[in-house]
This record gives sequence, structure tokens and C-alpha cells, in this order.
Amino acid sequence: MNFVPALHPPPVAGRPPWWFVFQNNRLLVRRSATDEILPYLVSPVEFESILVERQYLGTYGSTGCYTAWLPAGAPQPEGLEFVGLRQLFGVVEEDLLWIAGRANQLVHWAVNHRFCGRCGQLARDKEDERARICDACRLVYYPRISPAVIVAVVRGDRLLLARSTRFTSSFHSVLAGFVETGETLEEAVRREVFEEVGIDVHNIRYFGSQPWPFPDSLMVAFTAEYAGGEITLDDDEIVTADWYHAADLPRVPGKISIARRLIDWFAETYSD
Ligand SMILES: [Zn+2]
Repeated sequence: MNFVPALHPPPVAGRPPWWFVFQNNRLLVRRSATDEILPYLVSPVEFESILVERQYLGTYGSTGCYTAWLPAGAPQPEGLEFVGLRQLFGVVEEDLLWIAGRANQLVHWAVNHRFCGRCGQLARDKEDERARICDACRLVYYPRISPAVIVAVVRGDRLLLARSTRFTSSFHSVLAGFVETGETLEEAVRREVFEEVGIDVHNIRYFGSQPWPFPDSLMVAFTAEYAGGEITLDDDEIVTADWYHAADLPRVPGKISIARRLIDWFAETYSD
């Protein structure tokens, strides 16, 4: 992707920047005459004064990118609307979607760290790195990233897929969960799989990773092999779980997620 992160805009402004403006997890967009949704604003001048927590993100091609937050209760700019980031999957081009994701993570962090959590004074942006500092007690806050593991568990020629109570639609996916304090990623994989479906796994191997900006996760993906146990559901987390052949997969998540990349890897490796 042709995106170069930076803390500060170049001294000589090029073309007008793009703005990724958020309210909660929703991005401000405009619709073109052909009903195409564009996740940026070329000219936010008319409401720039009410935006808060602006952060310069870097350049996409030769265009600078900013993110900012529109406070709750502020009037919605005319001709524009807020749309949830997830609803933009498959609607806007992938590069812009991932810049919007990065923007969402940073602006959430900025909004949530206006004040020092230790002494309560106002914090400010550091000039030399992406961080906030409290001038009163010198504590530094970096953007928060919450790591989560996601794992494709294979038993023979079948893949473990489950339906989570968190899924809003009826697809099945591989298991995932947040890493806890003090855990290695591999320990998190073993614990999550055991907690959610009562299965032991081994031969845990790194597969890949993906930022997951809802609002600040990093998904770290693994493959693993079945080592023992029978499926026993954690009813609070999982609706159903079962082993599936590559030729007989249920409905799975959309193309853009690393969950889908894991499932596609399984389907390619274990077909026929
Ligand atoms: Zn402080």
C-alpha cells in the first residue's frame, strides 16, 4: 500500500488533504451523484472549527491524511453522513479502508487520553513521536494496541469452525480472543481454544497478522493441530462449533479479514 505514516505534514502543502472524521466507530462520508460512498472530505473548512483531537496520519500517494473527532451533539455537516466502518467493507477501496482503520485507532486513543490517568492534568501531543505526555508528572502515553489471537485448528482433514454469540449474522469462523496480561501468544491460543470449546491443541504455528481497528486490536493468526478432547461449548461465547471438511464449509466471513485468509488456507491445503 502506498501509505507513508508521518507525525507532521510537509512544510509545503501539496494538494488538499483528506480527512477521516469519526464519531465513535462511524466515519463521516459523502455520497457521489452515482451513490458511491467516499470515506473522506476534501474540504472540511466549513466545520473545521468544531473538530477536535486532530492527528496527522501521513501521506497516501501524494495526498496528506488527517483524522479528527466530531464531538457528540455537534451538528452533522450538511450533505454528509456517518457510516459504521464495518459497513464500508467491500464498499470502498481497500487501501482507503485500512487508512480509515488506522485513523479510527489513533483518534480513539487521542479522545480517550486527553487527561493524564495518573495525575489528572491535561496531556498534550509529543512533537517527536506518536505519543501524549503529561507535563505535570512526565508520564507518556502511546497509542494502545490490544493484541488478540485467532487460530485455525485442524483435526485430520477437518477444520474447527464456530458461531460466536458476538456475530450479528449467521456465519461460522475460526476461534479468536484477546491476549491476557502476562501470556505468550501461544498460551493465549491454547487457553482460548480450551475455554471456548474444550479442545487441546499443539503444533501452534504463526500464520500472519492484521490490524483490526474496532477500535484498537491487532489480530495475530496461527494454525494449530488437534491434540485431544471433545467439543464442549462455552455457552456465553459460542452458539455452535463443529469440524468441517474443505468441500463442505458453512457460510464464512468476508474476504477482507484474516479469519477468511485462514479458512481459505485450510480450503486450499485440504481440498480433496
Ligand atoms: Zn500526569
